[in-house]
Formats: sequence, C-alpha cells, structure tokens
Amino acid sequence: MRLGRAAGQTDTGRRRRQNEDAFVCEPPLFAVADGMGGAQAGELASRLAAAAIEEGALRVQGEESVAGIVRTANARIFERSVRDPTAAGMGTTATVAFVDEEAETAAIAHVGDSRAYRYRDGVLEQLTTDHSLVGELVRSGRLTEAEAAVHPHRSVITRALGTEADVEVDTRTVDLRHGDLVLLCSDGLSAMVRDEEIVRLLEETQADPHDAAEALVAAANRAGGEDNVTVVLFELVEGAPVARPAPPASDGRETTAETVTTPAAVNGDDVSRHGPGKGSRWPALLLLVALLAIAAFLVWWSFVR
Ligand code: CA
Repeated sequence: MRLGRAAGQTDTGRRRRQNEDAFVCEPPLFAVADGMGGAQAGELASRLAAAAIEEGALRVQGEESVAGIVRTANARIFERSVRDPTAAGMGTTATVAFVDEEAETAAIAHVGDSRAYRYRDGVLEQLTTDHSLVGELVRSGRLTEAEAAVHPHRSVITRALGTEADVEVDTRTVDLRHGDLVLLCSDGLSAMVRDEEIVRLLEETQADPHDAAEALVAAANRAGGEDNVTVVLFELVEGAPVARPAPPASDGRETTAETVTTPAAVNGDDVSRHGPGKGSRWPALLLLVALLAIAAFLVWWSFVR
C-alpha cells in the first residue's frame, strides 16, 4: 500500500467575506484548520496552525509526534494572541493525518470540529469526534443527530487551538489499505452536506481526490454555502511505498486549490498554499528602513538644534 493522488480545496462559501480556513496537503502529512476570531484573527490563527503543522512534518513519526506538532501550533497561536491585541482570543480547529505507508496506518490528531473520515468499500466512517457543544450533547444522549444538525449553537466548539497555553489533543491510529480514501474537512462541509450525500458524490467521482474535492465544495455551496468550506482528500493505492524526498520549501504563492500525485509531484512547484509567503517580508523590511531613517533624522536633529 502507498499513497496515491491527493487534493485539497478551500472556498469562502456564499455568505462569508473572508476565508478563515486553511489546509496542508504535503503527503504524507495532511491537515485542515478552521479559524475563529474578530477581523483577520481567525484567518491568522488557521494559517499559523497550518504553518506550524507543515513545519513539523519532518519530525513526525507517529501518533505522539502528530499530537506534538498540534501542541506546538497551539503554543504559537496562543503566544501571538497574547502579544498582539488585534489577535486576542483567536483560535482554530486542527485535524491532522499522518500516513505511515510502511505500517499501513494513519495517525490522526484533532482539536475542534473539523473532521476526518475514512471511505472504504462504499462506507463512510467518521474517525474523529467533534469537540463541539452539540457533539457532546449527542454523545450524552441529550440531542439526536438530526436535532444537532439544525441546532442554533451547532458551530460552538468546546476545544480550540490558541485559546489557552495548553490544549488536550485527541489522537488515534487507524489502519489503512489500498482502495481507501481519507477525507479531512471543516464544518463548512459537514454542516452543509449530509454523510449520505458525501458518499453519493464520492461514488459519482469514483473517489478521484481532485474531482471529489471539487464536487464536495460545490455541494456545500449548493446547500447554501453558509460557511467557509475546506476539504483534503487522499487515496491509498496498491504498491510498495516509494522513498519520499523532503518536502519542498514553500514559494509563498497563493493558490486556492491543488492536486498532487505522490510521490512524483512532491517535487512539484507548489504543493503549499498558505501564507505568510516570502512576499509578506517586504512590508517588514520597508518598516525597518523607515524606522532607521527616522532614528537617523532624530540623531541629526538633536545635533543641529
Ligand atoms: Ca467553520
């Protein structure tokens, strides 16, 4: 068994102005993050999470290290929110999957209500339990799935990255075999599109990760697109694992969708889509130059006065 094609797609949806979701599609590491917070803070939180997760990719070995990179992401977001008043209170979900082709497993770590599913033999199995208010009410039997789907507080999450110094991360390791497809998604998909409809679309697209990603995002928008929607899909195919080159450095270009076929496309141009990219260093450099100029002027002024 080895990883086959993989694809990720994110869309603002039809109601929101900004897209606060981010994703990572860097085989064998995949993640979805769904940010929250005022102004640009939600976007910042999910991007910080995605960047920290991606950075940790080379250190990942198994379940514990996947949880470790999620905790690192938490610490980074929390530090930033303490330091930066405009980002105070920001947070994000994170659902991460790391595939070990040799062991034929995926280590899954998650915080919040972004989900991981395994699609096998026509059956869609949810691999994560939502850390959400309605999720807890359903688990304790006080709410049915149908009631939860229309509950006014269905988007309230009970655990997030970045809101506290420490976070409890749920982890598990699941077995994989060729023919499986794994789907990670933000609640912009799972709240808008029922599991049966997801299954129908996976069948219709023959579980092609790229086609399925497009179909799922389109379905969420057709259903109202009330939230940002993000999906990451990867397939497991027959064959021996191929030695995997180190992930390429991000070139900072922004794209809204990507498809990678592993392992060949790992060397491709752009399998990374979230910022901050190299371009964003320029404002900081200009600011530094401006500050130096002001300092020089003040020194000169103090002499000529
Ligand atoms: Ca969301």
